[in-house]
Amino acid sequence: MSKPTIVPCPQCKQEVVWSKDSPFRPFCSKQCQMIDFGEWADEENSIPGAPDMSDSDGWSENDY
Ligand SMILES: [Zn+2]
Repeated sequence: MSKPTIVPCPQCKQEVVWSKDSPFRPFCSKQCQMIDFGEWADEENSIPGAPDMSDSDGWSENDY
């Protein structure tokens, strides 16, 4: 009875049928879903690398 809902894939703009046959909706495929996921995951990974300022106390110069 009801028409299938078609949504454009946010990544590649391909038409995706909004149904249980499209497990990655609104994305057309897992690939497009992962691309989107990777974009925001990128920000999570950009943790400012605090340089480890551990001084070299454990070694001394061996003066021959
Ligand atoms: Zn897509």
